[in-house]
This record gives sequence, structure tokens and C-alpha cells, in this order.
Amino acid sequence: MRTVQVRTERWPLHTPFVIARGSRSEAQVVVVTLTQQGETGSGEATPYARYGESAQSVMAQIAAVEPALREGIGRDVLQQLLPAGAARNAVDSALWELECRLQQQDRWQLLARQAPAEVEMAQTLSIGAPESMAASALAWWEKGVRLLKVKLDAHLITERLVAIRTAVPEATLIVDANESWHSEGLAARCQLLADLGVAMLEQPLPAADDAALANFIHPLPICADESCHTRADLPRLQGRYDMINIKLDKTGGLTEALALAEEATGRGLAVMLGCMICTSRAIRAALPLVSGARFVDFDGPTWLAGDVEPALRFSPGRIALSHAAEQ
Ligand SMILES: [Mg+2]
Repeated sequence: MRTVQVRTERWPLHTPFVIARGSRSEAQVVVVTLTQQGETGSGEATPYARYGESAQSVMAQIAAVEPALREGIGRDVLQQLLPAGAARNAVDSALWELECRLQQQDRWQLLARQAPAEVEMAQTLSIGAPESMAASALAWWEKGVRLLKVKLDAHLITERLVAIRTAVPEATLIVDANESWHSEGLAARCQLLADLGVAMLEQPLPAADDAALANFIHPLPICADESCHTRADLPRLQGRYDMINIKLDKTGGLTEALALAEEATGRGLAVMLGCMICTSRAIRAALPLVSGARFVDFDGPTWLAGDVEPALRFSPGRIALSHAAEQ
């Protein structure tokens, strides 16, 4: 017999996070805790309005599967009971952690994967004035960060990118437009990015406009984020995108994320990993995906004023892993 607890937590940010869709100053997460045979497993998810989610809707979805969870269902059955999204992620992550505790193994061991000593990750530059984005880029570079993710909207694209590139001529830059661009003019923007040595462009167009990317010759890789949630999306994305951004809050947990990564790779799509604004608890759940990812964008917790205990060991552009931290 299992017990199930569900709660929300609010985590204030130390600095507002600004992307094309808007600004936020706190993260509201939903946490599921399962207890069985004296062991507990917790999972966290960040409901996302872009995908029609709120804390309330996610709590309601979880409440609907609580009886089945109390009866002891596993991750396989869960995939049938809830659709992909934050609610399934919170539960799937809690089931993974519970499984680890009951078997006294970490996620890496359960998957027979080797944990790296550290993970290199992108630091995100949120949208601001060109000179302040350039100053942030330089500050991160001087702290040792070599991979920067530049958030952009449809304004000041040249000014922002030129200022950043001038400040950090040797940094690897990836750009995320969060669906804010249009197909008209996209070719010229892609050429500008390529000329500035940008390594990848994430989700330039609204997901509904994906068809515009078919037969679109582009000088740098384009990555699907808002357009890619689960394996079901892959046939539609092939030939339009070169890469996908996997996030547990979209896949509905590590179980589908592992399958998505494998199938995407098999179809010739490269993989990057992302996260919402979240605590270390949510990043820890996704860590076994890092092997095979071209870019890892796990800096969500570094935007928070505080973090869960134990927190992952973040330093600029890096996460140091240890056995205890991975559990
Ligand atoms: Mg993105």
C-alpha cells in the first residue's frame, strides 16, 4: 500500500526571467510524494500556460489517478492513464525516485548508464537591452561559461546578437526565439545567425507554422521545442527540424523522454535537453538523459533565490555530479 501527497510550492526568482512570451518572477511547481514500505519518492513539475496548464489543472489530473497510485501502479500503467505533460511528469518522477529507494540504486544504475563527473550546460541570457545582454554574456564568459543560450523576440535581433557576439567572440551561442518569428524574413535571419557563428536556432516559428520549414534551406541547425512533446510528434518534425529539445514537463516524465531520445536519434534528429524554471529536484530526474545530448540547458534552478535540499552542485556553466547528488 502506498500513500500519495500532492502540494504546490512557490520559488521566487533572484532576477526576472524574460522570454518572447513574457516575464516571470517566481516558479510555481507541483510536487508529488509517494511513500511505500517506509521509503519515499518525490517528483516535481512546472505547469506551463503555453500548454494549457495551471497548478490547478495539474493537481486535478493527479487527483484523478490517486486511487490507482495508492493501489501501487507502475510507470508503464501511468503512461496509459495520463497524457504527456506536467502532471504525468510529477508522478513519473516520483515513481522513478521511489523505485530507486526501494531497490537501493540510483537512476543511472537502474538504466545501466554511467554518470559523468560533470555536465556542461548552457547559461541563459534573458531578453534585455543589447548592451545589458552583452554585459551578462561577458560576465558569464569571465566566470568560465562557454555555452550561452540567447533568448530573443522579434525585436532588435541584429543589435542584440552583434553586441553579444562582440562581447564574447569565442563563446558557443545558441538562440531561442520561443515562436516569436514569422516565416517571412526567416531566411535572412538565419543567414545573420550563421554569419555570427550561432550554433543552433531553437523554435523560430509558432508550432502551428511548422509546415513553413519543409524544404526550407537553412545555414544552421533548427531545433523544435514547443513543436516537440513526445514520439508522436517525430514523423511531423522530420524534414523540418534538425534537432529536438526534450523536457520532462513536455514528455510527461523520464519514461517517455528516454524513448523519445532513442527514436529521435534513430531518425537522424540530434537531441538537446531543456527545463522549465524549476528546482534541482526536477533537474535530477532528467540527468540520465545527458549522455548523447548535444546541448544541455539545465540552468532553471540557477534563476531561483533558493533551492531544495540537497541541491545539485551548480557552478557557472556546469553541474558537478556525485553519487549522493544523483539519487
Ligand atoms: Mg525553448
